[in-house]
Amino acid sequence: MIEYRNLRVALLGGGSVGAQVARLLLEQADELANRVGAGLELVGIAVRDVDAPRTADLPRELFTTDAESLILGADVVIELMGGIEPARSHILLAISSGADVVTANKALLALHGPELFEAADQVGAQLNYEAAVAGAIPIIRPLRDSLAGDRVHRILGIVNGTTNFILDRMDTEGDTLEEALATATELGYAEADPTADIGGYDAAQKAAILASLAFHTTVPLASVHREGITSVTPQQIESARKAGYVVKLLAICERLTDATTGEEGVSARVYPAMVPRTHPLAAVHGANNAVFVEAEAAGSLMFYGAGAGGVETASAVLGDLVSLARRHVAGGPGFAASSHADLPILDIGVITTRYAVTLEVADEPGVLARIATVFSDHKVSLELVEQSLTPAQPEAGGAEGVPATATLVIGTHAAPERALAATVRDLAASTVVSNVASVIRIEGA
Ligand code: NAP
Repeated sequence: MIEYRNLRVALLGGGSVGAQVARLLLEQADELANRVGAGLELVGIAVRDVDAPRTADLPRELFTTDAESLILGADVVIELMGGIEPARSHILLAISSGADVVTANKALLALHGPELFEAADQVGAQLNYEAAVAGAIPIIRPLRDSLAGDRVHRILGIVNGTTNFILDRMDTEGDTLEEALATATELGYAEADPTADIGGYDAAQKAAILASLAFHTTVPLASVHREGITSVTPQQIESARKAGYVVKLLAICERLTDATTGEEGVSARVYPAMVPRTHPLAAVHGANNAVFVEAEAAGSLMFYGAGAGGVETASAVLGDLVSLARRHVAGGPGFAASSHADLPILDIGVITTRYAVTLEVADEPGVLARIATVFSDHKVSLELVEQSLTPAQPEAGGAEGVPATATLVIGTHAAPERALAATVRDLAASTVVSNVASVIRIEGA
């Protein structure tokens, strides 16, 4: 492979997300270089105060207040400052000076996306923004790339973790909005000024970004209908529950036809709405996010996970970085699939899992203890044991009859597969077990 020089990466912002991006860039430098085909060299982090405390231990010499100089010396600029200015000017400077850009700035994209995309298109620069909507959840690239050949009809998103946390508390704990907001603030899910979240402004920014992307149409933020959750009452939550619904703040982006004019168009809106408890979005609890996409050919797709958090969001930022760095290096998408890690494929014996074992045993005193010993010999601990009895049957024509048997269903705690398999072998050989009727693994519990 041709040796490519290191790509110089400038980070604008070293806050919740920026500090984690910097840490991961430094800690995983070798691994990332292998994935890209060139080193990713963090050349500096622009902040307001170089001595402010950080959420990661980072070399002080990386910090600067001179963002412009940093940008002018970079191949890739990652904007994680937030806000409109100077973030907008910095991104435009980066693009005009030949750098590719990653940003997580939904507020900026919702207001000035068209200007920034146009500037990038004019010089052939890449502008990636996976982290701008729903934090760690991959939704931008699935819409932009994976669904590029499909026709998206509708997107229903829970894209604001704070309001989902609040509505979930109101539903599960019976809290009022004020009580749930106080808990959200205490746990760090809500900002000191929660207006952007509970007023639906943050969700509206994300709706504008999603609708623009999904429908290949510029959807201005001002055109997004917005209602927050401030007027949601415990009574509404309660009556929704009784009717089999849960109240969620939804960002809805839809392609539809105006029945009076016959005109096809786009609607982007944010409001609290009742969702049937059977809908996948009803199962999104706490501060999690989810985006439900309905497309012509693909049908319904659900994207779910952490919608915020420094390190979670950093994952999406680094994904954008690796993706554009590959194009930067290869002049195309880079490796179709990379096998540089060359890890060994492990035997199933090393996995950790759980077993549910069904045994037929004689219904005699001491049997349970002997079976428990087989498990403990292999250091496998038991979680549940259920027993059902089959009463003694008179043997056809005989006097003594067949002794009563018992069926035991035994669930284990997590243990190495090797130990679980050995336990089952020993059980099968045990004189108190007449039959190992079934063995099935338990996963995801
Ligand atoms: P943050 O913690 O407030 O950090 C902002 C950083 O930018 C700080 O390091 C700050 O410097 C620096 N900064 C701000 N204004 C500056 C200026 N004028 N000049 C130089 N540096 C400046 O923000 P964050 O939570 O990391 O969010 C960053 C971006 O990611 C935002 O666009 C946000 O919407 C987006 N995002 C965040 C999350 C999340 O979970 N936090 C999730 C998805 C997307 P100082 O440290 O010196 O003050």
